[in-house]
Amino acid sequence: MKKMLVDLLRGRKFVGSGLIKVNIWFMVIFALNVTLGFGYMIHSFKWDYQQVRHAADLRIHLLSLENALLDQETGQRGYLLAQDTQFLQPFDRGVQKYTQTSSVLMDLAADVEEYPELAGKVEALIASGTIWKSEYGDPQVRKVMAGGTITEMELKRGKQQFDSFRTQEAEVLKVVERLRDERRTVMLHDLTYLFSTIGVIFIIVQFFMLYVLQRGLTRITWPIIQLDRAVASYESGNIHSKLPAYREDNEIGRLVENFGLMHEEMQREKSILQETYRLINLLNQTRGLDEAYRVTLESIASLVVCKRVSVITQNENRGFSIKALLDQDSFTRQDTPLSGEEEDIYDLLRGGFSVIHTDWSKYRAKGAITDQLYLGGIRSSMHIILRKEARIFGVLNLMSEKADSFSQQDKERLELLAPMIVTALENATETTRIQAMANRDGLTGIWNRRYFEESLAELIASYERDRQPFSLILLDVDRFKMFNDTWGHSEGDLVLKHLAALLGDCVRPEDIAARFGGEEFAVLLPCTLMKEARTVAERIRRELESNSPSRQYIVTASLGIAEWEEGFDRQQLIEAADRALYQAKENGRNQVVDSRSLRTEGSI
Ligand code: GH3
Ligand code: MG
Ligand code: MG
Repeated sequence: MKKMLVDLLRGRKFVGSGLIKVNIWFMVIFALNVTLGFGYMIHSFKWDYQQVRHAADLRIHLLSLENALLDQETGQRGYLLAQDTQFLQPFDRGVQKYTQTSSVLMDLAADVEEYPELAGKVEALIASGTIWKSEYGDPQVRKVMAGGTITEMELKRGKQQFDSFRTQEAEVLKVVERLRDERRTVMLHDLTYLFSTIGVIFIIVQFFMLYVLQRGLTRITWPIIQLDRAVASYESGNIHSKLPAYREDNEIGRLVENFGLMHEEMQREKSILQETYRLINLLNQTRGLDEAYRVTLESIASLVVCKRVSVITQNENRGFSIKALLDQDSFTRQDTPLSGEEEDIYDLLRGGFSVIHTDWSKYRAKGAITDQLYLGGIRSSMHIILRKEARIFGVLNLMSEKADSFSQQDKERLELLAPMIVTALENATETTRIQAMANRDGLTGIWNRRYFEESLAELIASYERDRQPFSLILLDVDRFKMFNDTWGHSEGDLVLKHLAALLGDCVRPEDIAARFGGEEFAVLLPCTLMKEARTVAERIRRELESNSPSRQYIVTASLGIAEWEEGFDRQQLIEAADRALYQAKENGRNQVVDSRSLRTEGSI
């Protein structure tokens, strides 16, 4: 009850549809108020009015009683004086009227509760009139009719009785008039009192209603004004403006709450947009493929909370491999083939829709890697198809240790980003391929002179840094001019390709075998001393001699070796190897000579 009253006074109930309802109720109360007020007023006024009317009636009847006696008296007097019977007519009429008026008057007098003596007085008055009639009126008429005469004395006594009636009548009339005046005053007084009471009540009720309605209106308008201000400030680009704190369960409360949610969503979307721009920007700046993968995965992990992000792409042999992985903060580039999960990837690509696996304990892909991840605690995942228009690049996988980690919104956001990621990864792939091509020899496919020079510079730098030894082998095909002349230039090209492949097979992955120019080749051997380089050179020479592309001829080559020495420059190393090569040619070709033996010979 108390709560209801507080709610009422604060206008809490009176917002939205509540206000319309209460307005109707207030109108009903208003109408009732007016009707009851006026009803009571009319009722109260009526009673007083009846009292006044009653007094007025009494007065009229008293006057007509007096008139009736007056008629009798004047009729009697006329008859007595003129002895003409026509005067008996008003006398008789007066008698009749006196009787009628008396009975009405008695009834009226009996009804006056405020003045009980009045009935007695009226009764005495009537009796006085009746005495006049029975003692003077009738006897004197009868006496004259019988031929008698009325003495002066008799007339005088009749007149006295008549005057006594009139005196009495005047007294009663005074009482009645006083009564009537009193009633009238009381009625007027009551009326004033009633009007003022009803007026005051009426004004209080109306003020209360207005107050309550005003409170209700304020409760509606104030948050709306604040909402309007917030909206206006959002329009001008400031989305940090505060919303009104209105937490009531009504239409306005819900409006403010929903607007608040919309506002939060707007801010979230804005930050997502910023994150997206950041990602696009970063992707545009990436140079190599490795960096592109790293930036992609790190940005995805900052957009959607997860433990693990990876990219799967299709290999040349139509199988799938994990190409890059970000596990917590550690990024690795790899080429790990899927083991059993391929079917799921095919299904995903065939379906053409990215998916969310909300709970791995209920459903997950089939395969050894997935099983391993499940044992490692992964419980939900999201798989986004990386596609640009109709082209499919691969699949982006996000994993979390919690079930139900990924929302539909996350999925839609990453689907929007997918084409940009594909573009960035494809561009990076292409850049890497072009870069690789720039370092390859066009005919043989092995490293070119440019790459050789770069690698040599790096090896020199690493020697300067930590004294890492390295060696150089220079190779020149023997009598190649003649070979070309004999077998043709294209067969010569074939020999060069064959030699390049053979070089690749004879050296370690970290060694750099390059085409130095024409039919000359160079091999840089990191962490290799002269002695070891000699073994490698000898192996190359032997392999070439025993493995020609055709049985019809044998191709040989001469090789010169030099090891980097303290105080050397780039040119000096190449010259040292070149001198050894020249010596090998001099010595009869198809042999290996190292620069050190050259020096020893030279010193002899
Ligand atoms: P040697 O080195 O044993 O002293 O004799 P050579 O005949 O090999 O002499 P040289 O090194 O001066 O000759 C180089 C020859 O290699 C000249 C050219 O016809 C040939 N040659 C250079 N580049 C190519 C190439 O790209 N393709 C073919 N087929 N031949 C090439
Ligand atoms: Mg040559
Ligand atoms: Mg040659």
